[in-house]
Amino acid sequence: MRWGLVGASRIASGFMIDAIRAQADTEILSVLSSSAARGREFAEENNIARSHTDLDALLADPDLDAVYISTTNEKHHPQALAAIAAGKHVLCEKPLAMSLNEAIEMVRTASEKGVVFATNHHLRNAGSHLAIKELIATGRIGDVLSARVFHAVNLPEQLRGWRINDAAAGGGVIPDIVVHDADTIRFHLDEDPAMVVAQAGISGMGEGVEDSVMSVWTMPSGIMVETHESFTHRFAGTGVEFHGTEGSVIARDVMTQQPVGEIRLVDGAGQHEIPFETHNLYIRSLGLFQAAVEGRGRPSADGVDGIKSLAVALAVREAARTGRAVDVDYGGF
Ligand code: NDP
Repeated sequence: MRWGLVGASRIASGFMIDAIRAQADTEILSVLSSSAARGREFAEENNIARSHTDLDALLADPDLDAVYISTTNEKHHPQALAAIAAGKHVLCEKPLAMSLNEAIEMVRTASEKGVVFATNHHLRNAGSHLAIKELIATGRIGDVLSARVFHAVNLPEQLRGWRINDAAAGGGVIPDIVVHDADTIRFHLDEDPAMVVAQAGISGMGEGVEDSVMSVWTMPSGIMVETHESFTHRFAGTGVEFHGTEGSVIARDVMTQQPVGEIRLVDGAGQHEIPFETHNLYIRSLGLFQAAVEGRGRPSADGVDGIKSLAVALAVREAARTGRAVDVDYGGF
């Protein structure tokens, strides 16, 4: 499979180029950057033959099968539509778009064109999360009563650009992290949050966009979910907990890009450390995407998953803005 990278981003150079090259029979042909100099430098550093500043020129390459879109968030929608129109499969970064309608248009257009469209929600590829899902699905904690997500991090210095000061580029902790937590909760509970309440604020880093948010979500089954996302918590660590009638799953350090963390099951028989696989999250995601393109299975998170995680994030933002409970609008999905 031959790839083009749309965006000379850190996530591409830090994780995705290696994950693409880890697959059998793949090649990265080109990269798009809005800056000719940055594109050339990125291509040289990452051993990519061609760099472009014009998306149509990148997409005109008949050898290209798929694109990975990892520009800032406001660019995902027009770039994905152009790639789909050119008949390329698309792996798109989260959040899919700035609005629900844009995300729906991307996913519908891909479906009409018959190309694979996926969202790069990495966490559901983690061995830790696959193990947690298995515990819940096999009834090890009984009926789930509640869940808590701890995703308050210390945003690394090098990421403190558009994320903390540019609302037009999709900055703010809600589009950045709440989407991942929404996807993770949907993955584990197999249902979509119905209603949310939230408070957001600026706690030392955000410049015009929120850097911290807490929210409570009601699931259709009645399960209650509590989440905390932030850019400003240096020592909090991440985690997720699921509490049920027969036990609790308590996982620490698992809301990360690395295959790390620990999982403890607590039940009537005591405490149990739960082992899990430690494969690379992004390599698994890419493998499933490539298999889907070859007609085998589906990507780990598809376009509808991306629509739904965005829908939850938009509801959280609206709830925080208005101080009211907000029903999550999935646009009919
Ligand atoms: P970056 O800030 O690294 O890259 C985003 C854009 O910024 C690039 O496309 C590039 O524009 C521009 N840029 C990069 N370096 C510079 C620079 N030195 N000076 C000026 N501009 C620069 O973003 P991230 O990699 O952090 O995020 C990109 C996307 O990926 C976002 O949508 C984000 O939400 C998502 N993401 C997803 C993760 C996941 O695990 N699923 C993890 C991290 C991010 P150009 O292309 O025009 O050169």
